[in-house]
Amino acid sequence: MNYVFDPAPISTVAVHGSDKRIPVRRIFCIGRNYAAHAREMGKDPDRDPPFFFLKPADAVVDDGTTIPYPPQTENFHFEAELVAVIGIGGKNIPEEKSLDHVWGYGVGNDLTRRDLQLKAREQGRPWDLGKGFDRSAPVGPIFPVAAVGHPDKGTIKLTVNGEVKQEADLADLIWSIPEMISTLSHSMELRPGDLIMTGTPAGVGPLVEGDTCVVSIEGLGDLTTYIGPKE
Ligand code: MN
Repeated sequence: MNYVFDPAPISTVAVHGSDKRIPVRRIFCIGRNYAAHAREMGKDPDRDPPFFFLKPADAVVDDGTTIPYPPQTENFHFEAELVAVIGIGGKNIPEEKSLDHVWGYGVGNDLTRRDLQLKAREQGRPWDLGKGFDRSAPVGPIFPVAAVGHPDKGTIKLTVNGEVKQEADLADLIWSIPEMISTLSHSMELRPGDLIMTGTPAGVGPLVEGDTCVVSIEGLGDLTTYIGPKE
């Protein structure tokens, strides 16, 4: 292929216990998927159909990365999330077959410029710049299903400088992983390398320069992110 400029490098996430990497295609995120978080965002935690937004694939960063405090925000938030990685694509996937499409699971942090997101929400505008900015998707090493199965319970926790800010159980998800995969696949064809960030529990809050943010999920290890100075 005779490109007019070099194509972007392939974005990847780590695999636990391996030097192989997972090429990332898209990052789907679900909104308000824990009842207590929906309430803290001023919304009713009902069973209205789930809604999704995306981050660009190149928003991923590895465990242990220092992220510069992002521009154009004064309310930069953490969101602890379980991440599912699609290994086998498909469309119109029935719920009972959904888990066959998952390659593995890991720990993620849906970093958010909350002030931009809420302003967009008020104005009925897209969330992209509040959610899909540079380095907005730290993702820890992915554990293959062969090693960890399909986590549907277990503690999800986030600390900032050692202080617990979020703590919940994966069993509290409003929409389960099979329901999310099935719903998404009826809207777009899922492909290998698609990541699904499955929503955050209550307790979201700000990060500032110098903070160390650690997300942990039982059985899936820790994801540490350091916040550096503004670039
Ligand atoms: Mn989120």
